[in-house]
Amino acid sequence: MDEKRRIRILSVDDDRVAQMAIKRTLASRGLLCEITEARTIEEAMRLLVANSYDLVLVDYLLPDGTGLDLLERIRDTPAIFITGSGDEGVAVRAMKGGAYDYLIKDPEGGYLELLPVTIEKALRTYQMEQEHRSYEKKIVRQNAELEEINSELAALYEISSTISRTIDLKSLLKGVLETLPRVNILKVEDKAMIFTVEDNGLRLAAHTGMGDDFVRAHEGLKLGECLCGLSAQTGEAILSTNSHEDSRHTIHYPGMTPHGHVILPLKAADRVVGVMCIYMPVGVEPSEQTVKLLTSIADQLGVAVNNARLFEQTRNMSLQDPLTGLANRRHMHMELERNLAVAQRYGTPLSVVMMDIDHFKEYNDTYGHLEGDRLLVEIARIISRETRDADFASRYGGEEFLMLLPETDLVGAYSIAERIRKAVEQETRVTISLGVSAYHGGMKNAEELINTADEALYRAKQNGRNRVEVYQAKLAEEKA
Ligand code: GH3
Ligand code: MG
Ligand code: MG
Repeated sequence: MDEKRRIRILSVDDDRVAQMAIKRTLASRGLLCEITEARTIEEAMRLLVANSYDLVLVDYLLPDGTGLDLLERIRDTPAIFITGSGDEGVAVRAMKGGAYDYLIKDPEGGYLELLPVTIEKALRTYQMEQEHRSYEKKIVRQNAELEEINSELAALYEISSTISRTIDLKSLLKGVLETLPRVNILKVEDKAMIFTVEDNGLRLAAHTGMGDDFVRAHEGLKLGECLCGLSAQTGEAILSTNSHEDSRHTIHYPGMTPHGHVILPLKAADRVVGVMCIYMPVGVEPSEQTVKLLTSIADQLGVAVNNARLFEQTRNMSLQDPLTGLANRRHMHMELERNLAVAQRYGTPLSVVMMDIDHFKEYNDTYGHLEGDRLLVEIARIISRETRDADFASRYGGEEFLMLLPETDLVGAYSIAERIRKAVEQETRVTISLGVSAYHGGMKNAEELINTADEALYRAKQNGRNRVEVYQAKLAEEKA
């Protein structure tokens, strides 16, 4: 239909003869057009404002100015400039002024021959320019969309790398919460918190921008309580736009101002391990995009929280003291139970030696804590060296070592203890005190055995330190 449409041309020239010639030429060439004539710049402008034209033909000399003046005022319509011969310089100015083409009037009227092609060329150029502009607009729009996607990805990347980089859960959670408000597309406030689900309720694991009153009000938060507790209980996201109008929002704290929330459960293998709550400006509904992005972050956090929990459990299950490499207290108790059962069943001897560094506090104060740690490692090494494979040495407490000597009676245990005491005295800048005790049938459990060694150790300290004392049942009875 556009093809068939007549080209609307505004021809501006005060010369009637020239106007007629143009009309005749275009009609004879079969160009489907509709020509409106104007004789002055003013008339042309009136017509241009009131109607829309596909093209303007502009003559150079007009009664109220030049065609160049008119060109300056034409917007959004291609124009062809027509000037008398000898005015080529004017034609150049017209082209610079925005004309799409120009024709030089020659006395023979040859320029009229060129008119139809010139018009078609100008219209084609104009149309191509329009298309080019619309593509440009489209590209600008697509660029803006890409930029948004890009910043979304950058935010996700930053958060993901925080999650994968940080081993310590608390600083991981805090790092993520601090990053969120910097992600512009989210449009969230810089107040956010994460609760983890524990056996007895929810624990505030990390927060950013929350005051002491908030922290106090959320101690011992129960499952199902307030919006966060509710999300943890149901495993559902909660979007609430005003804390003061939401009846489920039951916790209030001094200084609390109205706020909106996005609350998302943190899940690992379908189990809720925590909730993330982010404040929104009051009354603002979070966008679908915000919720989508935060959900994907919450999913990653769920896995991180779960991993940290497993890591913690594994560490609690560990049997080794990380500093000295000896068995830890937990491991010692397991070994003690096992050995006690053997001693009880077969009546074989079993001894323990409790050791404690003398004036270790002073040593730390003098040489520093790090040097104190080195000493602990050194003493552990001496203990391992001076004992048999069957013996079992542990770091029982901070500066206390407990040794388990299977198939060893008091006399044997005493001599091993004495050997260790001497070695420490000779090889280090400290001395140790030791208490020795052996299992006997009257003892009810491992605890009793340890207590007796402790008692002997206490006497070693009392009697001047750097010595071994043996637990003597009789002595203990006399005291009692
Ligand atoms: P005593 O002869 O009566 O045992 O005196 P002490 O100073 O050794 O005893 P006290 O119980 O007063 O002090 C024990 C010190 O051991 C205090 C504590 O700082 C230090 N300690 C405990 N565990 C460690 C540790 O892992 N590393 C270091 N460097 N010091 C530790
Ligand atoms: Mg001590
Ligand atoms: Mg000590």
